[in-house]
Amino acid sequence: MIVCANFKANKTRQETQAYMAVVESFVSANGISDTVIVFPPFTALEHYGRNVLVGVQNAYPVQNGAFTGEIALEQLEEFGIETILIGHSERRHILGETQESIAEKFRFFAERGFAIVYCVGEPLEVREEGNDALMEYIDKQFEGIDLKYPDLIIAYEPVWAIGTGLTPSLRDIELIHGALRAKTSAPLLYGGSVKVDNAREIMALDNVEGVLVGSGALSASDFCSMIEQASELNTKKGE
Ligand code: PEP
Repeated sequence: MIVCANFKANKTRQETQAYMAVVESFVSANGISDTVIVFPPFTALEHYGRNVLVGVQNAYPVQNGAFTGEIALEQLEEFGIETILIGHSERRHILGETQESIAEKFRFFAERGFAIVYCVGEPLEVREEGNDALMEYIDKQFEGIDLKYPDLIIAYEPVWAIGTGLTPSLRDIELIHGALRAKTSAPLLYGGSVKVDNAREIMALDNVEGVLVGSGALSASDFCSMIEQASELNTKKGE
């Protein structure tokens, strides 16, 4: 299982340090073998422990240069960052990233061997058109993306479920993940209003290999509970 926390623009450097200390020691003390990734804000990047991977929520696809307000490969290398989130719906819909720019970013970081958590997901009006329209929409989000890239993780995150407290039914998650599985062998995460209370049943579904969690992971102890659930399920699913 893969359990990820996306802080977005939350937490200070100090708060992130405290959080990482809790999660690092939980993972180590409980012998967790699942992959745990935290995406903190840029200002909190540093070399943390060995048990939890640290990734970035974004970066500009260049070594360095005149790109005001961005950070690039050179700054990631300083902190040993080799994991990146690409295609998050907030970057697509609030910050205006186009599929073309997302694909360019994907190519750049894939060529440098990054682990890429690539997000796809439909807005509500598309979901209301039915499953064919939904899969067509997601297919467009795969344009320019190498679905055979070995370090790819895909996160299915319906836009209407992110930060809203709403989630698709378990059956719908399983249906979409089944359709995604037919397209790629990359691990498939679900994201969108995952919390301690629903993480277990979501991770237990077929073709769900983990979760990407935003607000529900801002508490370190909640995130640790979800890691624990993943680890228990991992044993069951592997039986
Ligand atoms: C996310 O940011 O990827 C996310 C799924 O957010 P939330 O869990 O808050 O819906």
